[in-house]
Amino acid sequence: MNANSLFNSGLIAAQQPSWPDAAAVKSAVAELESFPPLVFAGECDNLKKRIAQAASGEAFWLQGGDCAETFVGATADSIRNRIKTILQMAAVLQYFSSLPVIKVGRMAGQFAKPRSNDNETRDGLTLPAYRGDAVNDIEFTKESRTPNPKRLVQVYNTSAATLNLVRAFTQGGFADLRQVHSWNKGFAADARFSARYEEMANEIGRALQFMQSAGVDPESFKSVDFYSSHEALILEYEKALTRIDSRTNNPYDVSAHFVWIGERTRQLDGAHMDFAEKIHNPIGVKLGPKTTAEDVSAIIKRLNPSNEPGRLTFITRMGAGLIREKLPSLVEAVKKSGSVVLWVCDPMHGNTYEAPSGYKTRKFDDVLDEVRGFFEVHKKLGTHPGGIHIELTGDDVTECVGGGDQISHEDLATRYESACDPRLNHTQSLELAFLVAEMLRDHKK
Ligand code: PEP
Ligand code: MN
Repeated sequence: MNANSLFNSGLIAAQQPSWPDAAAVKSAVAELESFPPLVFAGECDNLKKRIAQAASGEAFWLQGGDCAETFVGATADSIRNRIKTILQMAAVLQYFSSLPVIKVGRMAGQFAKPRSNDNETRDGLTLPAYRGDAVNDIEFTKESRTPNPKRLVQVYNTSAATLNLVRAFTQGGFADLRQVHSWNKGFAADARFSARYEEMANEIGRALQFMQSAGVDPESFKSVDFYSSHEALILEYEKALTRIDSRTNNPYDVSAHFVWIGERTRQLDGAHMDFAEKIHNPIGVKLGPKTTAEDVSAIIKRLNPSNEPGRLTFITRMGAGLIREKLPSLVEAVKKSGSVVLWVCDPMHGNTYEAPSGYKTRKFDDVLDEVRGFFEVHKKLGTHPGGIHIELTGDDVTECVGGGDQISHEDLATRYESACDPRLNHTQSLELAFLVAEMLRDHKK
């Protein structure tokens, strides 16, 4: 059933492309509306229950993937390496904290990007900015950069193919905890972290054998829940994939299990907030350093007036230098409201800078320090540091500096592949997981 009439069409939607051909948009939307759902409402509800657990400190949220997925990047190898990386990080976090980890990919739909400038100028030529493969192509020609709504249909198809592989990997035995050793194969391993990882994998193996000998059915290790998520940015796409669930009669955005509203589109009177309010998925909202306690209260009132557990996640992205100063008043405001939210730390988006060579980068130490600050604030206020939100890839790229491999500014050119923001590579991701696992274990003491 079509759900388009639910939304207030008179509101301003920030960060939308200027599609040159309105008829082509209409026909892409009609096609999307005829497609089957990518996820089921019941799965979104299950995720909500798990988010509620994380909000009360009984689980930990791990969300990771590309800043911007690309159509050409949706290969079996790339998807498998991202899943493996997330599964490895989850195993590390779970092993050291003894908390269940909710695994969420910034995957199978993360194709659209907000931009600070509508246009980009190179050598005197000004063209529309790249807004993600959902909108245009990154190549700097007039033809490539012109927004093309047919791409929205390709987003659906690429998301479906990605999700199909995700489901095969996570339900078909590949994600079985007994495979924890094999996830390390194929990665150009950094000796320090892979040795630590192998040691942990051995111990997990022993624990599983013990459980099996005690009568636990080994089949129960076979499949894991893995959820999809992306920023709900291009509203034509998200609305076309919003359907009324026949079980509950409620609308769900069936393009992903979890969607979030970005820092640049969360205006209270804007179309994205209206969209988020109407759908019944679990929702995230990004909060940058300018967020006030009043903003937070207003968002809660708007998106979760009935205080439904698991409905609302705040993803803070303050920057390492500001997290300890800016987060406390927001957490206090939520505490005062009596509302249950999941607090997640995005240590990426407040820590981006331009390297002397011109590459956009992030320092591993800043990423780590922001997570540390996040844990410190929650410790002080008696609240739960519920999870992390990371831009990562399973490949050995050189996009963020530092970490065990000591990637330098000069190294960035070696393998910089991101279509948008710099991602942690496989080793940096694993290293971060070990360090966050320590924080999580200490927090529970
Ligand atoms: C992102 O998550 O890639 C992003 C653009 O984040 P934010 O809205 O926090 O800037
Ligand atoms: Mn990003």
